[in-house]
Amino acid sequence: MLTHTLGFPRVGADRELKKALEAFWQGQGGEADLQRVARELRSRHWRLQADRGVDVVPVGDFSLYDHVLDTTAMLGAVPDRYGWRGDSVDLGTYFRMARGDGGMGSVGAMEMSKWFDTNYHYIVPELGPGQTFRLGSRTLLDQVDEARAAGVRARPVLLGPLTYLRLAKPTVEGFDPLEHAGAILPVYEQVLRELSRSVEWVQIDEPALVLDLSERETLLFRLMQERLARAAAPARILLATYFGGLGENVALACMPPIGALHVDLVRAPDQLESVLARLGADQSLSLGVIDGRNIWRVAADRVLAQIDRVVGKVGSERVMIAPSCSLLHVPVDLDRETGLDPEVRSWLAFAAQKCDELRLLADAAAGREGARSGLEANRAAWRSRRASPRVVDPRVRARVAALAGRKTARRSPHARRQAVQRLTLGLPALPTTTIGSFPQTAAVRAARARFRQQGTGGAAEYTEAMRGFIREAVARQHELGLDVLVHGEPERNDMVEYFAEQMAGFCVTGNGWVQSYGSRCVKPPIIFGDVSRPAPMTVEWIRYAQSLTDRPMKGMLTGPVTMLCWSFARDDQPDRETCLQIALAIRDEMSDLEQAGIRIIQVDEAALREGLPLRHAEWHDYLQWAVEAFRLATSDVRDETQIHTHMCYSEFNDIVEWIARMDADVISIEASRSKMDLLTAFQRFQYPNEIGPGVYDIHSPRVPSVAEISQLVRQTLQVIPADRVWINPDCGLKTRAWPEAVASLQNLVAAAKAVRAELDE
Ligand code: GLN
Ligand code: ZN
Repeated sequence: MLTHTLGFPRVGADRELKKALEAFWQGQGGEADLQRVARELRSRHWRLQADRGVDVVPVGDFSLYDHVLDTTAMLGAVPDRYGWRGDSVDLGTYFRMARGDGGMGSVGAMEMSKWFDTNYHYIVPELGPGQTFRLGSRTLLDQVDEARAAGVRARPVLLGPLTYLRLAKPTVEGFDPLEHAGAILPVYEQVLRELSRSVEWVQIDEPALVLDLSERETLLFRLMQERLARAAAPARILLATYFGGLGENVALACMPPIGALHVDLVRAPDQLESVLARLGADQSLSLGVIDGRNIWRVAADRVLAQIDRVVGKVGSERVMIAPSCSLLHVPVDLDRETGLDPEVRSWLAFAAQKCDELRLLADAAAGREGARSGLEANRAAWRSRRASPRVVDPRVRARVAALAGRKTARRSPHARRQAVQRLTLGLPALPTTTIGSFPQTAAVRAARARFRQQGTGGAAEYTEAMRGFIREAVARQHELGLDVLVHGEPERNDMVEYFAEQMAGFCVTGNGWVQSYGSRCVKPPIIFGDVSRPAPMTVEWIRYAQSLTDRPMKGMLTGPVTMLCWSFARDDQPDRETCLQIALAIRDEMSDLEQAGIRIIQVDEAALREGLPLRHAEWHDYLQWAVEAFRLATSDVRDETQIHTHMCYSEFNDIVEWIARMDADVISIEASRSKMDLLTAFQRFQYPNEIGPGVYDIHSPRVPSVAEISQLVRQTLQVIPADRVWINPDCGLKTRAWPEAVASLQNLVAAAKAVRAELDE
């Protein structure tokens, strides 16, 4: 029984790739330096996996930016605006597609989007009529040679054509990227023919097979796979599916020319039976039994029982074991986490440890003596996790249990709350506000870093520094004439980690970086136990900020769904349960803020939409508990207290009714980049509460003019009645610099005044 992996984290345990990329972009290093770091990382990661007992390692999983962009380069599908004419896609063109060229009046980057339901972002391919394709990059072929020279048994990985087309967006409305199935195939065939000279297996990733597929997609998949298999012969194809179950696509995935199939048994253990029933006699099966999306140790005994059953049915020569998906989504090495609580640490496995687990499972399944001590250690870790008082908090359990059957709602319906809030808040028509954060300047970050180093000894100095930043933020907002103020979030490194550090049941890692996109990494907290809030988390800062002004100061919290989605969640209880626990902790914070005299509280739910399950049939269940958790977090306040929420996107068409059910008094959303999406959603469904469509795109340093912002507000007023409209930017300003933020907000306030004057006419 072979062990293998589908992909390994690229950035390196010390984020070497990030550093090399950023140095290269800043002109501090040449292409040779960057490629050297990249080569070192590849060979180090191959070695690491092989040394830990992985029999077959992937090649082609590495990327300088993104594997979907690599596929775009391989297919020569460079959009016209980058003026690519050369033979192969050079590094300059490659990074311009990823990041734009940054100059004035320049070409923009290609769009980014979430890779299935992960927090990894891929570069969205752009396909349109008349486009042609040709081999634009030999990177994969070169890396196969590199792997051979490194002496590892490597298998090339390609992103499959169906998934590629499915992830693409049309350049003109009405064009279907599937139209290009026939045009991209020859490039795939060319690559496979070349690969077939040197390898026996090629991994083709088709995670699209776990989605709802149209009839046309199903048909095209069949046709394409037949041709790919022919081109690859005598090498055979390992078709990799992950992130869910194959469902009705199982027959498709087991079609004859495919040599081996990989299935995700972590997300969808139930699919095993139907896969076994369809698997051909000459096909192998790769069991994705180790969680590639989460950091928990494998439950070895449970998985071994599964493996035994499959081996009993098809024989061990036809079985492989692997992580459920690429290990891209977990940090590299747990051994570096010396600051973690040792007990919690014993429950975890990062990418390197998951390779050890593969070896352990394979050895144990083969009955090798050497596996015994590893199995014992695995069992001991699970026993400790199940029984640990760090995991179970009876008070939290009782609180959640008491919620059963209870309806969570604000005390009065929105119309009444709105009337009361109008009276008490005394805001003008079209009130102006911002989303929470202000520029995280070098001074802000330095002050936080100093405090981290000094520990509690530096607390007084730290508090004074933060208060200084808050005073500055409040003064600027007064000067700008904004109506509802924020404290600016200088004390927050990250909107999730900040709260995770203060909630029981969470822990944060020192170095657990996971690639988010390109050189950007995030460090998701780990939820290991029942969640509660031992002490107020934000009250002192907000109280101080409110003391500096007569205008309403918004309290600022991160919502339960976002806390869950952007953390490594528990695998020993349903997400719904965890989410309700977090909601209760936030509910406590809300009460304390209200008691402290805060009249407006914003609860950010940036991740609500991306938490949507991949299959439509599961949406309802998710939305039900996600909305319930938000309501639980926010409903225990007086009618006078105004609840805001913020979401960083505007594709609401399919979930707008659910957003309404959250029943926030005010919602701010992203809109300036995609005005039309928003308008159609709100034409079809009248959002009943107040809403602030973002009228200033904070993702760019550009300062929008008064005329431009006024125009966006007027457009909004055609769809949403004026007494429900707020005026605000798209998102927080933490990535911006003060000069452009101030200039933009000046224009925003001026636009509000101009349109208000028109309302009075
Ligand atoms: N309040 C947060 C901020 O302004 C919201 C960030 C987000 O939605 N991503 O930074
Ligand atoms: Zn946002």
